Amino acid sequence: NTDLHRAKTLIASIPDYPEPGVNFRDISPLLADGAAMRAVTEALIAPFEGQFDIVGGLEARGFLFAGTIAAMTGVGILPIRKAGKLPRPAAAVSYSLEYGTATIEGPDVLKEGERVLLVDDILATGGTLTAAQALVKELGADVIGSAVVLELEALDGRSLTGDVHTVFTD
Ligand code: 5GP
Repeated sequence: NTDLHRAKTLIASIPDYPEPGVNFRDISPLLADGAAMRAVTEALIAPFEGQFDIVGGLEARGFLFAGTIAAMTGVGILPIRKAGKLPRPAAAVSYSLEYGTATIEGPDVLKEGERVLLVDDILATGGTLTAAQALVKELGADVIGSAVVLELEALDGRSLTGDVHTVFTD
């Protein structure tokens, strides 16, 4: 698939952002390419087709892929938000960052036993995705899978998250 091949080249590496020593992956060029976005979206859902009722997107770039997946499959979206953004959070999970902690929250929209596919752009240390898995359980639904566009293998995030479907690895 040439669009999928091209998609990987559309993820840029920005050295020393947001701080020295960090090699930030910028997906903006990928987002700007419609055919590449379609190919990435198809690759994200390929192992899970027919197996999920709703897609959970992680703020903020995960929202974008949750949107394309929802439009292509007809499911709805669960926005998993950074703390303090939701008017009526139904559950919250905190997790540790390199310095300090972060919290994510979700709304009360899931039915018991509903099958959730989680999606994000980048898997780094895995802290965010692992917290999202716990959040969905607290909201009373089941995570049937997790999918990311790019896994940064050196950070070994999947030792925290468990199995993750990755379109690209680096
Ligand atoms: P983790 O919790 O796995 O360490 O970090 C993953 C979260 O941080 C994801 O929500 C992802 O969007 C963001 N993130 C971490 N590193 C990068 C990066 O290099 N590029 C982008 N675009 N997002 C990143």
